[in-house]
Amino acid sequence: MAIRLYNTMTRGKEDFIPREPGKVAIYACGPTTYNFFHLGNARMLVVFDMVRRYLKYRGYQVTYVQNFTDVDDKIINRAAEEGCDPMELAQRYIDEYYKDAAALNILKADVHPKATEHIQDMIALIEELEKKGLAYNVDGDVYFAVEQFPGYGKLSGRTLEDMQAGARVEVNEKKQNPLDFALWKKAKEGEPFWESPWGRGRPGWHIECSAMSLKYLGPGFDIHGGGGDLVFPHHENEIAQAEGCLDGQEFAKYWVHNAFITVNQEKMSKSLGNFFLVREVLEKFPGEVIRFYLLGTHYRSPLDFDHDKLVMAAKGLERLKNSVRLAKEALAKGLPTTDRPLGSLPQAEEELLKAVSAAKGDFIEAMDDDFNSAQAYAALFEIAKNINTYLTGENNQAYALTEAVAILEELAGVLGFNLGAENEAQSEMTEKLSQVMDLVLEIRVKARQQKDWATADLIRDKMKEIGITIEDTPEGSRWYFK
Ligand SMILES: [Zn+2]
Repeated sequence: MAIRLYNTMTRGKEDFIPREPGKVAIYACGPTTYNFFHLGNARMLVVFDMVRRYLKYRGYQVTYVQNFTDVDDKIINRAAEEGCDPMELAQRYIDEYYKDAAALNILKADVHPKATEHIQDMIALIEELEKKGLAYNVDGDVYFAVEQFPGYGKLSGRTLEDMQAGARVEVNEKKQNPLDFALWKKAKEGEPFWESPWGRGRPGWHIECSAMSLKYLGPGFDIHGGGGDLVFPHHENEIAQAEGCLDGQEFAKYWVHNAFITVNQEKMSKSLGNFFLVREVLEKFPGEVIRFYLLGTHYRSPLDFDHDKLVMAAKGLERLKNSVRLAKEALAKGLPTTDRPLGSLPQAEEELLKAVSAAKGDFIEAMDDDFNSAQAYAALFEIAKNINTYLTGENNQAYALTEAVAILEELAGVLGFNLGAENEAQSEMTEKLSQVMDLVLEIRVKARQQKDWATADLIRDKMKEIGITIEDTPEGSRWYFK
């Protein structure tokens, strides 16, 4: 079965057929680096990190490019407020980006191109557009002429007339059509600038992504992604710029957009004061919990943010980790193993392996269906539940349990969760608990040797109350959580 994904361009789910068999090229529009990134950015970053990891898991060789917009009005304005150099400010927030991305377990892209390092590529593209009659220079500002590009509006599904009617028409005498957009902006006093055939200036925002994606991935690359708010005008303009130069070739094949985040059912915005930076949320919740929350809803559905939802995510993730922990503790005690083929294992083992194998199938089916990570979570919980049930049974063995835990960890890993990892504090506690339990068992053995049955029973009963079972076997006493 092929992977299916929703293509904004065709407004439907399509079979995923890569440009080159076995290889996938993805470009996602990254943040403008004038601040720490916010939750909305985080959703997009985590979604495409998940897409990339899953395609890799399905055997594709994935090239993932995600840019940094490091020259922009917002950066220039912020730098002016702070009285620092715009390039310095942008670099500072690129450095901060990597910290927050690491906290959310977002892998580094294969290429993280910065706009300021690709000015010549953009100039070359603009020159080409000018040559083809798709761009015009007005006194050092260069604009794209939307009326000259017949496909303008195809991504957002609107005609030029619709757009003109709906647009807030900017008063700009220089533009031939109000929807024409800047490819190159003439330098203003005190702004960063580069030399160009049109004089000193800097690129418009949209041109960087056309130039950098074509440079690293070539025409007709597989997936172009970003937040849904980029469909118009950013991605529409990227298509116009790129296809304007590509002589009939397609720019990108599948357009993938994630939905937005609301806060307590309201749109997240600075003016409403409900605007969250990931850095702030990280003060209250670990990165893995934020990630678990973000992927707990299908990427094309709106996602509402509130404190309780993060608490729920923390509990859900803990349930999965707990199963892994319990299973590993059981295995660490050295369970017997029967490595026999399916069909000749003891019944409990057969049942566990069958349930895990079915859940793995469900996981892949969910993810193949337009990366439905929310549905894939159900498969993870199903495996965890089966592990827990198995552990409550008698005569546990190592074989099926080892297999079940390995699959649970593997599938969670595909979504970017490391269920087996305990943080240092946790592993220290586990170590100490184990030492304390050795001492408890030793005291109980001494009590029994002295025929102090009351103390021996008291220890066993009190332990049971807190969920630890002590079992006496011919080889001595052992303990487990139950
Ligand atoms: Zn872009």
